[in-house]
This record gives sequence, structure tokens and C-alpha cells, in this order.
Amino acid sequence: MSSLQGQAIFITGSSRGIGEGIARTCAREGAHVAITYRKNQEAAEALAAELEATYAISAHVAQLDVRDPHAIKREVRAFAERFGAVDGLVNNAGLVSPGLLVTQPIEKIRELLDTNLLGPIQCAKEVLPLMLARRKGVIINIGSVASGRPFRGQSIYAATKGGLEAFTRALAVEYSRKGIRAHCIVPGPIGTEMLDESRALAEKEILSHIPLKTFGTAQDVAEMAVFLLSERSKFVTGGVHVVDGGYLLG
Ligand code: NDP
Repeated sequence: MSSLQGQAIFITGSSRGIGEGIARTCAREGAHVAITYRKNQEAAEALAAELEATYAISAHVAQLDVRDPHAIKREVRAFAERFGAVDGLVNNAGLVSPGLLVTQPIEKIRELLDTNLLGPIQCAKEVLPLMLARRKGVIINIGSVASGRPFRGQSIYAATKGGLEAFTRALAVEYSRKGIRAHCIVPGPIGTEMLDESRALAEKEILSHIPLKTFGTAQDVAEMAVFLLSERSKFVTGGVHVVDGGYLLG
């Protein structure tokens, strides 16, 4: 049987990039998925239609800006009502804003904190009561190698991603005894739009720091997510799971 058969997985920022890869791979494993987007409704609907036709699952399309706590509450509830549960939450939506700290306006700093840290915390807060009622659920936060090995110009981004690692451990301490597991996946350089800018400037330099000598794909991250969402990882919680081709080794 597929590892997520019939489960309902809510993925933020899932119309493109790593989130899209996670949605695709969860659907391949038999899960119903939320495809959430901010602006590109067409892309979200096209992906949902493709996944429904290919895997005979249901894909729930929703507009969601994770900086809006009311929207999070509304969309998590709508998803749970449709599928009767939220088995998994993947806090994937994220933003980078390269720039040295002294040049960053407070509005930009707030935007990064709101998107990368407060958003995931608020999403977890909304799904937890639903998971607690069933004593079952998995929360995955998508961190970054920037927390352990930041570039110049990544101070705020690194702080948000380090915060997600700490948040993951704290969730595991608070809720593992209630049947809820929490994980942080830490991707290295993955070939998405987020990486395009730095790739264009320093492709060779980045590659020289990856022992496997290739960029990762959204699917590489998604395969780890599927394992952590599934019962196959039932004795795993609170950990940081690196998918980086060896980048953190130097
Ligand atoms: P992309 O820039 O390709 O995609 C970012 C996704 O986040 C989009 O779906 C975007 O939605 C969504 N998003 C951004 N801001 C918000 C918001 N306020 N509310 C809701 N959704 C939002 O990035 P990746 O796919 O590469 O990144 C996904 C995650 O992986 C991020 O958390 C990132 O930090 C992390 N990561 C990525 C790495 C990489 O090399 N690519 C490396 C390490 C970590 P929309 O389409 O509406 O803009």
C-alpha cells in the first residue's frame, strides 16, 4: 500500500518549487493534499487537476498568505472539514531577502519573520487542536542550511530558519506524548526559483561546496517529507533532517 494512503496533508506555498514537489510526492503516495498559493491561482488549479487525474486523490486549492492568521484559521478549518482531519502539516512557504543586516529596513525584517517563523508557528497552532483530538499527526517545518552555514547577507533568513529548528524540538517535547511528531527538514541548494538568483551569480562557487557535485531537486526534499509524514518513521520525532548533498560538511 502507498505510504500516505487516504491521509490529508496541508502544505503551505505548494503551487511551485519545493512545496509543489512535496504535494506531487504526497499525492503519488495516496494522500489528499492542499495546494496553497498567494497569487498564481491558475498554476495551483492546474497542479490540482493534474494530481487528481494522475493519482485518484483529491486536491484542495486555497489562497493563503501565511502572514495572515485569520486566513490560516479559515483555510485549515475548510481543509479539515473537507477531509475530516489534518494528518500532516508541511510548513514550506518561505522567503529570502539577501542583504547585509545594516541595509535592511525594519519592514523587510518583519516580512521575513512573519513569513518564515510566525507563519509556521500560527499554522502549527491551528492544526494542533485537530491533531490532539485524534492523538495523531505530523508537523514538518522546512528549515535551511543557512541556519548552520549562512552566506553573507542571510542574517535574518538564517535566524528564522534556526528558529524553526528550535520550534521543532519544542513541539516534539510538548506534543510527542500526545501522538504528534514534529520534524525539521533542512534542504541544501535546491534548483528552484529561490536559488536562481544566487546560482546565476555563483553557480560554480556553490557547486564547489556540495560534495555530491549537483544541486538537489524538489523531489529530493519531498521524498524525505513523505518518509517523515508516514508511519515508516513512527519512532522519529524532534530531529533535524538534512537533504543537502553534503553541503554542511563543507
Ligand atoms: P520558491 O521561492 O521557489 O517558492 C517559495 C514558496 O513560498 C512559493 O510557493 C511562495 O508562494 C511561498 N510563499 C512565499 N511567501 C509566502 C507567504 N507570505 N504566504 C504563503 N506562501 C508564501 O522557494 P523554494 O521552493 O525553493 O523554497 C521552499 C522552502 O524551502 C522555503 O521555506 C525555503 O526557505 C526553503 N529552502 C529552499 C532552498 C533552496 O535552495 N531552494 C534551500 C533551503 C531551504 P507564491 O508562489 O505565492 O509566491
